[in-house]
Amino acid sequence: MGAGRAYLDWNATTPLHPAARDALLSALAIPGNPSSIHAEGRAARAMVEAARREVAALVGGEAANVVFTSGATEAANAILRAGLQMACALVPGAAAPARPVIAAGIEHAAVLQAIEAAGLPAGYRIVLPVTADGLVAETALAAALAEARAVAPSQPPMVLLQLANNETGVIQPVAELAAIVREAGGIVVVDAVQGPGRMPLEIGALGADVLFLSAHKFGGPKGVGAIVFARSEVRLQGAFIAGGGQESGQRGGTENVAGIAGMGAAAQAVRAMPEAPHAMIQLRDEFENRLNRLAADVEIVGKGVSRLPNTTCFAIPGLPAAQALIAFDLDGVAVSSGSACSSGKVKSSHVLEAMGVPAAIREGAIRVSIGPATTFGEIERCLASLERQLARRRAPGQSASAA
Ligand code: PLP
Repeated sequence: MGAGRAYLDWNATTPLHPAARDALLSALAIPGNPSSIHAEGRAARAMVEAARREVAALVGGEAANVVFTSGATEAANAILRAGLQMACALVPGAAAPARPVIAAGIEHAAVLQAIEAAGLPAGYRIVLPVTADGLVAETALAAALAEARAVAPSQPPMVLLQLANNETGVIQPVAELAAIVREAGGIVVVDAVQGPGRMPLEIGALGADVLFLSAHKFGGPKGVGAIVFARSEVRLQGAFIAGGGQESGQRGGTENVAGIAGMGAAAQAVRAMPEAPHAMIQLRDEFENRLNRLAADVEIVGKGVSRLPNTTCFAIPGLPAAQALIAFDLDGVAVSSGSACSSGKVKSSHVLEAMGVPAAIREGAIRVSIGPATTFGEIERCLASLERQLARRRAPGQSASAA
């Protein structure tokens, strides 16, 4: 990565893939509006539709079922706040009846806040508990579905499932959970944001009715994402952003042609690198082995369960994350904390809290997330910084240069 720095924060955002940059720049050179019928407009439309095909192919879906958005946060808000219509509930123009929404506390803020903003009737928001490893247990899901049935017997509940967690990398057994939801007549919505380039991702195999993606998590530009419906019968009840009828009436506003073109190229690049997760897992395992040697008391969150190949969320007793992040940054290493920083304050991670992780570990949670371009040198730089930090911790009186 950039001059002498190690960028190890790929779950926050990935560097722009060169192919995405090229596609984005080419699209910027096209003056037309994709809704215009002249040649310039048609050229812009062709770019958008080519990207739609690439994004569909990334998840084994159909281009006609892809709706571009400004990112995953908008996608989650659209699904939860505009509502979904399924074939059985197709009443054009009718307002979507409220349905119970089932989601775990480990979901991203985009999902949790969209549920809050959906204004559900009392009792319709059902929180799925997770295990200490951050997994949704099948029994817990069955209980939540029974609760939803009791609350609204005639409304199929909507169940949000996260393919993989951005903080811990823990992978949910989505296909198994989705089967239980479908059996109970529910609707499955999958936040697949952390999947592309890190794990196989196929909408049919997942059993999702709809999933959503964010381009900047897999080499595309920031500020563009997509909703992918599994079938033509599944759609938003109405446009979440009302406007000129773009995106088949599902999302108003002139399309972000350059962003969409960049997303399409990034999707194509991901599909061209099926071996990337294997290379990342080797680097990740090497990192974790050396981490264990540096600090025998290190806690690696979700170590015993299936995790993304690129993510390590760890805490070392006595090493507060807030201080460690600054020390890493000064040493040229970009990592992030399990805690989210907002307005200068360090908040405890809601994900780790939902997992019941003790406060002492939550306060030390540091996330290292890598990508296909990460080098061994970057990992070494991170470990060297950590070694210096630990040496200072053991001998607090010593200066940094002596450590
Ligand atoms: N869901 C997950 C799992 C994420 O990691 C993120 C981004 O951090 C989002 C949703 C929101 O994505 P966006 O940045 O496109 O709004």
